[in-house]
Amino acid sequence: MNSENLYESIIGLEIHLQLATASKAFAADDASFGGEPNSHVSAISLGHPGTLPRLNKKQVEFAVRLGLALGSKINLTNTFDRKNYFYTDLPKGYQITQDRLPVCTGGSLEIRVGDERRRVRIHHIHMEEDAGKSIHDLDPHFSLIDLNRAGVPLLEIVTEPDLRSGEEVDALMTAMRQLARYLGISDGNMQEGSMRCDVNVSVRKKGETALGERCEIKNVNSMRFARQAIAYETRRQIELLEKGEKIVRETLNFNPATGVTSPMRDKESAHDYRYFPDPDLPPVVLTQAFVDEIQASLPALPDALFEKFTGEFQLSEYDAELLTAEKSTALFFMDLAQNLSAVSTLSADRTDAQQPLFKAAANLVVNKILPFLQEENQALEQFPVPIVRLAEFVQLIESEKVSASIANQRLFPEMVKQPHLPPLELAQSLGLLQSADVDFLEKIVDEALAKFPEKVAEYRKGKKGLLGFFVGEVMRASKGKAEPKATNELILRKLG
Ligand code: ADP
Ligand code: MG
Repeated sequence: MNSENLYESIIGLEIHLQLATASKAFAADDASFGGEPNSHVSAISLGHPGTLPRLNKKQVEFAVRLGLALGSKINLTNTFDRKNYFYTDLPKGYQITQDRLPVCTGGSLEIRVGDERRRVRIHHIHMEEDAGKSIHDLDPHFSLIDLNRAGVPLLEIVTEPDLRSGEEVDALMTAMRQLARYLGISDGNMQEGSMRCDVNVSVRKKGETALGERCEIKNVNSMRFARQAIAYETRRQIELLEKGEKIVRETLNFNPATGVTSPMRDKESAHDYRYFPDPDLPPVVLTQAFVDEIQASLPALPDALFEKFTGEFQLSEYDAELLTAEKSTALFFMDLAQNLSAVSTLSADRTDAQQPLFKAAANLVVNKILPFLQEENQALEQFPVPIVRLAEFVQLIESEKVSASIANQRLFPEMVKQPHLPPLELAQSLGLLQSADVDFLEKIVDEALAKFPEKVAEYRKGKKGLLGFFVGEVMRASKGKAEPKATNELILRKLG
């Protein structure tokens, strides 16, 4: 038996989230991404002697927002410390962070992997500032430094070692990014480095309860690399243990080009940061009223919307996941659902009877609108058709005035071109309405039956399953315009 199967990976993350504040954590400099190198700087972010940091209130507010959304305890008094190390992209020679008393403690976030749901516990969240960027691959002789990022506010979210695979890590990072975007505190963009993580990995034999010694893979900035790094590191550690060797606690780099982790040599390996309280920054003291105000302003969160969509609306988990991936999509769907209740002839409290409508609305968004936007490279806000018209479109399908396939294939593209016309009018002018008109139907039904006399005979001898065949024929001949119920009845009458 393969020895790898006897082990499990144990993983804990330290997630760095860059906050979408206008200015930096302790200075008024522009905190936005990019810009001409070294243009978003000032005497403070350059670490000139005699300058003093001043805390950005927005950073605290964002930290509390995230903490509340994760169910963390908000520490009304929290403090800043200095983490000292020497590196060229750290002009002050220390990073301001929270070591002893972070802003939030505890909390959890649910992840879904396949059919399984799991809560990943959060150890704590602390505020800190980012370092600048060293660029080693632009000049053949020199390393270049860009300090635009120095002092940009970060949250570090430290999880308990609750994750067991690369897939779960991916799910947690995805859920965290989604939450950050719902809360409006960060764009969570991994390509731009707004979200990255240190991945702590250990292994142990399945069934054991004690944790093994771990290694920490620094600064992973893509989910693909995270999975590769975890797979490699897991294998490496198992091999060592199988040879009877010990795991040595190390800080590692992952090289995406080779797929291999290797020990870091520089700043991070010297683990003596000589933390001490930052004498320039007084403790942060929050009032309960400040926290309550933030609590009251929290938007509907992805988990709650997912529950609503799968529960009240009875949508599939697949649809619910796509519809809640971004806040704008979820709000758009909610808006559509509300409008459906409004145009529906059903009374608003008869949700059961509305579930087919919600399902049809989900189909419209997932299968038509989102792909359309992707194709056109547009945001949902730019979608031309007003919500009321979309609600009418769904209604048209549900009332069987237009067949679902005709609506999707022919009516939808027309609506996008003429977004303000009522879909019923459009369907009429394009001749797409289904017909329950007996004269119209009778002619087509008669033709269909005349075309297959042997099948008619078989049906009359008892092969009742042929009904579907005749209905299909009529549908095809009418180009989808035959109204199914009336068609069924008419065929039965003619055959019976
Ligand atoms: P340190 O203070 O040395 O950074 P922490 O206890 O704060 O260590 O843990 C840092 C991260 O490492 C956390 O995300 C935690 O979940 C993870 N971690 C701790 N022990 C282990 C272990 N044995 N295996 C995997 N991850 C671990
Ligand atoms: Mg740590």
